[in-house]
Amino acid sequence: MAISRARLEGLSPPQPAEASGNERRSPGLGEPVEYGGELTSNRGSPDRPPTVLLSYRTEDTRGQFTGSAIQRLRTVFSGMDDAAVRHAFAALEEAPEFLFDSVHQVKMPRWSSGGVAMLGDAAWCPNLYSGMGATSTLRGGAELGRALLESPDDLDAALAVWESRLRPFIRKHQRAARLKQQMFVPSSRPVEALRSVVLRLACTARERRLAKARATASARTRDRCAAGRRA
Ligand SMILES: Cc1cc2nc3c(=O)[nH]c(=O)nc-3n(C[C@H](O)[C@H](O)[C@H](O)COP(=O)(O)OP(=O)(O)OC[C@H]3O[C@@H](n4cnc5c(N)ncnc54)[C@H](O)[C@@H]3O)c2cc1C
Repeated sequence: MAISRARLEGLSPPQPAEASGNERRSPGLGEPVEYGGELTSNRGSPDRPPTVLLSYRTEDTRGQFTGSAIQRLRTVFSGMDDAAVRHAFAALEEAPEFLFDSVHQVKMPRWSSGGVAMLGDAAWCPNLYSGMGATSTLRGGAELGRALLESPDDLDAALAVWESRLRPFIRKHQRAARLKQQMFVPSSRPVEALRSVVLRLACTARERRLAKARATASARTRDRCAAGRRA
């Protein structure tokens, strides 16, 4: 899959040789996909500024890594003339650093060889749309520790048990990631339309829940005031 992202601040991957200025990049590998576009942000925290994630689909992964990354993103997102997008691009030009990269899943036939085991993104990266990368890395480490404790004298057996226990969990989340990424970068117009419906329904449900919670809270306040007046 080839999706590029720019993040205004926050990621610290190893510096590839080609990077220049405030841009970090690495050549994309993996199967090509087609159109899509998305902008998401988080509000940051007192010690971290907010970040913006821009992602899109493309059939030409390697082609994304020629020329200016910011110009490419501006072209891809030119159809989204929105105040938030304009602000994100203005900030991107000024960002001390950003990452422009492709998104992939890692699938390895085995996670260990001899006395060497590989875990986390290097072994089974589900991809960032899964929201399970950190969790699966931690679980992989914990499971490895458990298997080693159970078979302290037989490394091969411990690694085999570790992998057989963990594989179903990783497989499940890699599959789920391919579905979840449709929310960020839909693979076709019909999927994009379906996503719009799902998002609209989710927003409506959320607004209803909030309205109900507000009504309940004001009814409670009214009751308390009335009880206070009676007392
Ligand atoms: C934008 C984005 C959003 C994400 N959102 C989520 C989320 O919401 N929830 C979630 O669970 N996961 C999320 N993830 C995924 C999560 O960050 C990763 O899955 C997780 O960090 C993987 O942990 P890891 O230890 O395997 O690898 P990493 O965290 O990548 O750690 C590998 C470390 O090795 C270092 N390294 C690499 N090569 C060398 C070398 N040759 N020598 C020395 N050091 C080296 C790297 O610098 C790095 O510090 C997100 C990822 C991205 C990019």
